[in-house]
Amino acid sequence: MLSVTEARERILSHLKSVAAETAPLTVCANRTLAADITAPHDIPSFDNSAMDGFAIRAEDTTASHVTLSVVADIPAGSTPTVTLAPGEAARIMTGAQLPKGADAVIPVEDTDFNRREAGTAAPKTVSFARTLKAGENIRARGMDIHAGDIVMQKGRALKPQDLGLLATLGMANVEVYKKPRIALFSSGDELLDVSAPLEPGKIRDSNSYMLAGLIESAGAEAIRLGVARDERDEVTNLLDQAVKKNVDLILSSAGVSVGAFDFIKEVVETNGKMDFWRVNMRPGKPLAFGKYGGIPFIGLPGNPVSAFVGFEVFARPALERLGGKMDGSRQKVKVRCEKEIESDGRESYLRANIREENGVFLAKLTGHQGSGNLLSLVQADALLIIPAGVKCVPAGQEVNAYLL
Ligand code: AMP
Ligand code: MG
Repeated sequence: MLSVTEARERILSHLKSVAAETAPLTVCANRTLAADITAPHDIPSFDNSAMDGFAIRAEDTTASHVTLSVVADIPAGSTPTVTLAPGEAARIMTGAQLPKGADAVIPVEDTDFNRREAGTAAPKTVSFARTLKAGENIRARGMDIHAGDIVMQKGRALKPQDLGLLATLGMANVEVYKKPRIALFSSGDELLDVSAPLEPGKIRDSNSYMLAGLIESAGAEAIRLGVARDERDEVTNLLDQAVKKNVDLILSSAGVSVGAFDFIKEVVETNGKMDFWRVNMRPGKPLAFGKYGGIPFIGLPGNPVSAFVGFEVFARPALERLGGKMDGSRQKVKVRCEKEIESDGRESYLRANIREENGVFLAKLTGHQGSGNLLSLVQADALLIIPAGVKCVPAGQEVNAYLL
């Protein structure tokens, strides 16, 4: 049976990124850059004050009392016209452009004019008793970024702070990858719609809601196709709909096990090819990958926790590859097991709660690990990753984990 790593590499080897497009910055949160961002100009683009205070000439300052005449008042956004001569100062606000001749700013609180209520007029003179070095309290042109610097690289998923920097640089439109379009369906005769009353022997389709959320969180768009009953025709019909919509990937849950009613693998083979349908892991052994109508297909297991784990371990990296992301978003952290943990030798993903003690993350399993027990996933903070071949993790040992 394939290992998790082999299976993931097989899936990724069949995927390449979708096309790029130019999108307005306002819709770029969480989108992925399709080109490096080069600064078109310096940041700051002009020397300016880092404080509310007085622009001065550092050479005029002494440790004993100095009085300078205030020859200008420079609010943020204005263009100063004065050039400071020896013995002169200009009142200046944070972010305002430094006047010629000035090379430092003394903060208001260090002067005899410690007033900044709105509407206060500038004084005629200002006095203080301290020396300043040239450059003090000044944000010099190009101090943060030089024109031509590459500030972000292709493949980066844009965070809110990135959008701020793009706006600073005047990038009203950004080259980003299109959102991968993912067809999503559930399968099983037992599944009811979320709004339907319960009936004997039936359960509600929870997977499609969870998986649609996961798809969005991976920066892709979920195209929900509903539920296929356990019949060849229904499965074929939904797969064909996905092909007609020309999606980038098809994601299903359930029906890929070895049950008498698990038709999905067989139907995929009628118009494509199954690559594998089992992975040596727990939960989530029945996990299928192939192509249908030329479109990559991932069949997740039906049990909700298995579907979740299968998504995180295989579908998330797949969607990120489609979406052009270079650096995977799921980071592993080290956590210490509070109690001994038993495993069965397969690579295992176990639900756990995490608490911090003296800078160490301590992990404790969230009760029974049945793969149908969605509550224990809801209550978990992390998935502990127990490597293949390990049957017992002693108390106090560290393991890798995905924080949820
Ligand atoms: P299967 O892989 O079809 O044998 O399904 C395995 C288990 O997952 C069964 O208990 C199913 O009832 C359950 N299951 C399958 N699909 C869903 C779904 N969409 N939502 C919740 N549970 C499901
Ligand atoms: Mg089923």
